[in-house]
Amino acid sequence: MVSRVIPVERFDLVIFGGTGDLARRKILPGLHRRYLAGQMPEDSQIIGAARADLDEQGYRDLIRDAIKEFGDPKDQDETRLGDFLNHISYVSIDATGEKGWGTLAEKIRPGLIHAYYFSVGPGLFGDLAERLHKHGIADERSRIVVEKPFGHDLESARALNRVLAEHFDECQVYRIDHYLGKETVQNLMAVRFANILFEPLWNSQYVDHIQITVSETVGVGGRGAYYDKSGAMRDMVQNHLMQLLCLIAMEPPSRFGPDEVRDEKLKVIRALEPVDPHHIVRGQYSATADEPSYRDDAGDPRSLTESFIALKCHISNWRWSGTPFYLRTGKKLKARESEIVVVFKDAPHLIFGQESGQHCNTLAIRLQPNEGMTLGMTIKDPGPGGMRLIDVPLDMTFAEALGEDIDDAPDAYERLIMDVMRGNQTLFMRGDEVEAAWGWTDPIIAGWQDRGEVPKPYDVGSSGPEDAMMLMHRDGRRWREIKE
Ligand code: NAD
Repeated sequence: MVSRVIPVERFDLVIFGGTGDLARRKILPGLHRRYLAGQMPEDSQIIGAARADLDEQGYRDLIRDAIKEFGDPKDQDETRLGDFLNHISYVSIDATGEKGWGTLAEKIRPGLIHAYYFSVGPGLFGDLAERLHKHGIADERSRIVVEKPFGHDLESARALNRVLAEHFDECQVYRIDHYLGKETVQNLMAVRFANILFEPLWNSQYVDHIQITVSETVGVGGRGAYYDKSGAMRDMVQNHLMQLLCLIAMEPPSRFGPDEVRDEKLKVIRALEPVDPHHIVRGQYSATADEPSYRDDAGDPRSLTESFIALKCHISNWRWSGTPFYLRTGKKLKARESEIVVVFKDAPHLIFGQESGQHCNTLAIRLQPNEGMTLGMTIKDPGPGGMRLIDVPLDMTFAEALGEDIDDAPDAYERLIMDVMRGNQTLFMRGDEVEAAWGWTDPIIAGWQDRGEVPKPYDVGSSGPEDAMMLMHRDGRRWREIKE
């Protein structure tokens, strides 16, 4: 397959929080992979900036260890790793004071693309933005990259947007939701808008309902105290699941451009109806003989924070009026799986009689693991005995269909960082999108806080609380099984 990667200009990339967990696990191993793929121009430099008192060699050693631990085992050629590390330097800096800023300013080369990755807590965004300007190292071509969580409610998200807007134009701000960088998530748009097959059926006339599941097997152990202030609604639904919902539900943009795509996503969020409290199920995992409960992990025996949520919502627009969207996500579930399932309506008239049973087409899009798509088709059960029907999968696993090309595809972080360098904001959330998403989630959270609702317990390794099953059963539907 011929690669048509858009080249990247020489750049200076500063990673504030360059010694942190995210930088070590994702950002630097990702940059290393892009370097090996020949996408990082030779004269580019990466500058780690963090509080630790490290010299250049100390930082390079830290990054070498991080790449060995978190990088791809097949990308560990020592010479190439050494070449990559030669592009890296370090500044010990205080985001809230003056320490290190003069040194950083000396390293930034005029005339290049400058990107500043704020891989630090959101409390430091304002300080960083202000000091970048004060020290003359940000101009109208500079880009800043910010991480989730972008606020914890509408008010705090607005405050962050205001702080950033004091120093940067919206076209310079790249808000990361790494889900948008996933190959399969982008494929959602390709499947919908590059094939004529689905789009005519992609509406409430033909779609019975849509399910979005993001299940995890891990608990919150280790970051329980942090998670307990957030919960599944803030941590997963407000960003990742909402983004998936937008891509599945949005109208075709006029072109695949940043504002065209984001305008359409925003319209979906704005068309979301408030959720009926009876259409939400919240859960917390219970203890097992060997493992702690959610409340043990959170360190609060009375915590009311949810580690699981399932909800039904509606989009009030011409295309989707009447089609429910069921969203569910949780921790310590049966398997790690992210999947979107479009369930089509039954054929309008069954010519094969009642004994052939009820059948419907489904399109399942697997984001992880085994990225791919399965189209559920109904065919004749082979052999004698009349016209019995069975459902069979038309299965396409991308790894099988695309072979090595998919293995070499950049992961979410790699792709997004390179998009920052290319100045392409399509896969980043715009400020108004984030605010609209909080505007929808805030009343839901406030509602259950007002009512003092207690999450339902669920077993580790299950599919969530029984009530989540009932949410579907009441409507005569069922969740697709989370497969182990
Ligand atoms: P971390 O605590 O591991 O690292 C924080 C970094 O910030 C360190 O390098 C530290 O030196 C630096 N720092 C803190 N205060 C500073 C100051 N005053 N001046 C200069 N540097 C300072 O955090 P992390 O896990 O790497 O997360 C960074 C950000 O990314 C957070 O906002 C987090 O919510 C977000 N995030 C992290 C992950 C993840 O997987 N770790 C995933 C998504 C989002």
